[in-house]
Amino acid sequence: MHLRCLALNASYEPLTMVPVRRALRLVIDGKAEIVEADPGRVMRSATVTVPRPAVIRLVRFVHVPRRFRRQVTNTFLFARDEYRCQFCGRTGGQLRHRECLTRDHLLPMSRGGTNDWTNVVTACSSCNTRKGNRLPDECSMQPLRPPMEPHFVHLTWAVRRLTPVQSRYIRLFYGADTLETLQAL
Ligand SMILES: [Zn+2]
Repeated sequence: MHLRCLALNASYEPLTMVPVRRALRLVIDGKAEIVEADPGRVMRSATVTVPRPAVIRLVRFVHVPRRFRRQVTNTFLFARDEYRCQFCGRTGGQLRHRECLTRDHLLPMSRGGTNDWTNVVTACSSCNTRKGNRLPDECSMQPLRPPMEPHFVHLTWAVRRLTPVQSRYIRLFYGADTLETLQAL
C-alpha cells in the first residue's frame, strides 16, 4: 500500500500529500511536527522510533507562491478532466494501442498560449494531432467543458483518497461544506 501523509503549512493550510518516509524525515529533522499519527503504528529509523504520521504540520511557515502551487501537472490536469479526452470524449481506457492522453493548449503555445488551467485541456494524442496549431474555432473542436481552475482539495481528492483523519484537516481549513461536496463526488 502506498502510504501518504497530509502535510499542512504552519498555518494549518493543507499543502500536499507526501510519502510517509519523507514526512518522517521532516519530523526527525525538526522541520515538522506530527499532528496525527496512525494509532498503533510506529516507524523506526536508525536512531528513533516514532508513531507513523498521518498528518504533519511544518514548524515554519512556508510561503508558497500561488503560481507555483497551482502549477498544472498532467496528473492533476487529467484528474480534473476525469481522464477523458475533451474533444472526442473517450477515456484513457478507451484509447487504441499507441494512443495516449496528452495536454492540449486551446491557444497553442506557438501563438502565445500559456499553461494556465484555463488554457489547457486533456486530449487524446489523435485529437491533439488533428487540432494541431489551430484555435478551437478554426477547426470546430470545442472542449466538452470549458477548462477552469479546480479547487486544490478537489484535485487531492480526485487523485488519491484521504483517510478520515486527514479529511478532518481539510474540513478544518475549508469547512464542512467543501468536505461534503467532495464526499459526494
Ligand atoms: Zn480525442
